[in-house]
Amino acid sequence: MSVDDRCFVIVGAGQAGAWVARTLRAEGFSGRIVMIGDEDHPPYERPPLSKSILSGGTSIAEAVLLARDQASLDQIDLVVGESVVAIDTRRRTVRCASERSVAYDTLFLTMGSRARILPSVGSTPSERVHYIRTIDDALRLKTAMGNCQSMAVVGGGWIGLEVAATARGQGADVTVLEAGPRLCARSVPQQVSEYLARLHQREGVDIRVSVSIESIEVRDDVVVVNSNAGTVRVDQLVIGIGIVPATDLAEAAGIKIADGIMVDDQCRTSDPHIYAAGDVTSHPCAQAGGYRRLESWANAQNQAIVAAKAALGQNVTYGDVPWAWSDQFDVNLQILGHPERGALVVARGDAQHGPCCWLVLGEAGETLGAVSANAPRELRVVRKAIGGSQTLDPAKWADSVCALADVSMISA
Ligand code: NAP
Repeated sequence: MSVDDRCFVIVGAGQAGAWVARTLRAEGFSGRIVMIGDEDHPPYERPPLSKSILSGGTSIAEAVLLARDQASLDQIDLVVGESVVAIDTRRRTVRCASERSVAYDTLFLTMGSRARILPSVGSTPSERVHYIRTIDDALRLKTAMGNCQSMAVVGGGWIGLEVAATARGQGADVTVLEAGPRLCARSVPQQVSEYLARLHQREGVDIRVSVSIESIEVRDDVVVVNSNAGTVRVDQLVIGIGIVPATDLAEAAGIKIADGIMVDDQCRTSDPHIYAAGDVTSHPCAQAGGYRRLESWANAQNQAIVAAKAALGQNVTYGDVPWAWSDQFDVNLQILGHPERGALVVARGDAQHGPCCWLVLGEAGETLGAVSANAPRELRVVRKAIGGSQTLDPAKWADSVCALADVSMISA
């Protein structure tokens, strides 16, 4: 069978799914592509959901990644509002909730993740309680924010802080309730958590850490949150306490799972006819050692591109250095590599008064990553050093008079 006689089926119409489909066509594949997604929307990008969709700066149309017209032009069968409920790996078919069955030669699993549920409120959102995972979630919250004087946010991670900044920017009183001892602890070092707390406090956000939620009462006119940090009464409650990969379908089909769907560096799963990409995967990560699941826009896009090319027989591998960004108030943060794992964190710049970039080194002085706050240029030097044979000189890095070119390299 020629490659172009094959049928490629993509389960999950999000960022990764759209990039698989786009790449297959861009690389000249002319066979059948079917993409099935359970939301009622064509694939869209999630970064605006906790920022510019809420503030009105981005419309739904601008967030869409593969519009229906484009899918039709590219001869991609885009099926939305349909859930795949089973994969038969022996017959190579997927079965949908509507009983529709679709046969594949190659299957791509790009189902992403679901919001982690806070047990005290359950999974069902309401007029006053919000999770933010889908565009419908974000639009519901946007409407609610139109008349919101006060908001509590459970979870001081990226969703929590971005929503807090947006709501505060619109004049609401905002309280962030984080379970851990510091903000964004899973992705940044202590110094950056402290910087984020100061940034939000300066703008008037009430940041509380080491919080244990005791009860949440949702009444007609108010939400009452009781915790060890006191009682907060608010108009709106937003929950951003992390995500869990949507692995159930793959697990039920006997595909190997370890946190996410295990893939090799060409995005192949344990089944030779099935690839996976995006948040739902655990992939080999040389820098972090072992397998790693990444929850980021860049990973969803770039891993999907590799999956599509590999399925077409190209000799490509995925090993990108992780990169993510966040916009909060007037600060653009960028996170490169694995800064959460560092032994030594060195600031370049005065974070209290202007741009700053924290370089993160490991035990042996190796460059692990960096976080920049309004200082994106600094990241270029760090990117070159990550995984390289040279190391950065921390003393020169800390001396902001020293030109970046000279900070560079001392031999390892
Ligand atoms: P997150 O960044 O993992 O942060 C969730 C935070 O909530 C963590 O600090 C977590 O602490 C805390 N938490 C967990 N259970 C809690 C509880 N019961 N009460 C209070 N706090 C609790 O996840 P997220 O903010 O929900 O975002 C979801 C995903 O979207 C993440 O993958 C995130 O990276 C991604 N996202 C990225 C961006 C960006 O890159 N700009 C923006 C928005 C969302 P523990 O770590 O101790 O569990």
